[in-house]
Amino acid sequence: MKRKKLSLYLGKFSGIEIYIHWTFLILIAWIFLLHAEMGHDWRAGLWGVVFILALFACVVLHEFSHALTAQRYGIRTRDITLYPIGGIASLESMPEKPGQELLVALAGPAMNVVIAAILWIYLRATGKMPELGILKNAKHLQDLPFGFNLMLANIALAVFNLIPAFPMDGGRVLRAALSFRMDRIKATRIAAGIGQILAMVFVFFGFFYNFWLVFIGLFIYLGAGSEAAFETTKSVLAGFKVRDVLMRRFTPLSPGDNIEKAVQILLDGQEHDFLVTANEEVKGVLTRKELIHGLASLGQSTPIFRIMRTDFTILTPEMNLQEVYMKMLANDATVCPVLENGRLVGMVDKDNISELILVQQAMHSND
Ligand SMILES: [Zn+2]
Repeated sequence: MKRKKLSLYLGKFSGIEIYIHWTFLILIAWIFLLHAEMGHDWRAGLWGVVFILALFACVVLHEFSHALTAQRYGIRTRDITLYPIGGIASLESMPEKPGQELLVALAGPAMNVVIAAILWIYLRATGKMPELGILKNAKHLQDLPFGFNLMLANIALAVFNLIPAFPMDGGRVLRAALSFRMDRIKATRIAAGIGQILAMVFVFFGFFYNFWLVFIGLFIYLGAGSEAAFETTKSVLAGFKVRDVLMRRFTPLSPGDNIEKAVQILLDGQEHDFLVTANEEVKGVLTRKELIHGLASLGQSTPIFRIMRTDFTILTPEMNLQEVYMKMLANDATVCPVLENGRLVGMVDKDNISELILVQQAMHSND
């Protein structure tokens, strides 16, 4: 199994791996030092660290809520990774049906509402709910019950995530709601636009009232832009199959060919990614990147089998192009062989998919 780099593996639940990114440890250290700097004793520092850990346990539950809801619609989640800014569940795709997407997006914030409700019941039942007078006089968060702080934090998480702008769950909720009335690409574009307007309002008010709003606004603005681009890319490919971008004409190389031959084909024509075959069977793939690297480090007489990639993904013409593209991005693959009934019929190149995306976007830009 391939483990993620720079992340600490925590464990696995329901087939989904959980990781903590190393930068998260900086956050823990920072909180401890912050307390020390303010002259608090080590217990206050520990309180802060335990609180953050409890809060991030809630974030994990939030992400699992998304992932397990998606699982009900047959969508797998590769992993959940915790970053200092929050958690990210890498869903392999989002459901096409707006109703399902709505539920997957709402599942996360709904989990925080449930946690807050449980804490509220607990605080009331144990008589630990602070009264208004105590709330007003509390100088530090630590003066208030731990559970009460956690309840407030979960309410904040639910509200923050429901901001209708794209990196947030609220952006997906908005897009899903719009998708009931229009096609997905248009809904994505409108949702992204609303998110960016909202972000500018945040930045504007942030300058006058609270500087944190400026940061949140910038975060949303940049996120809405890149997420919208990514979402548009994904939605453009919906409905296409591998056969729509299948290249039937290509020059196969054999493992014994040397780098010089591949370089010659590269310079002669349009081809820059190659399939390496022997006896009609694919043995590997060779991209321009490996070719140039091999040429520089090993020389032009080196046989191709020494530099080709053997971790390629085999496709079939009927496969969903959107899923294939996501998988190619995730595996950093630029070329895949396509087999039909076990026979090699062609290949798919990432550049071809990118061209299809550009053409489709141009055709939809006047909707
Ligand atoms: Zn979420």
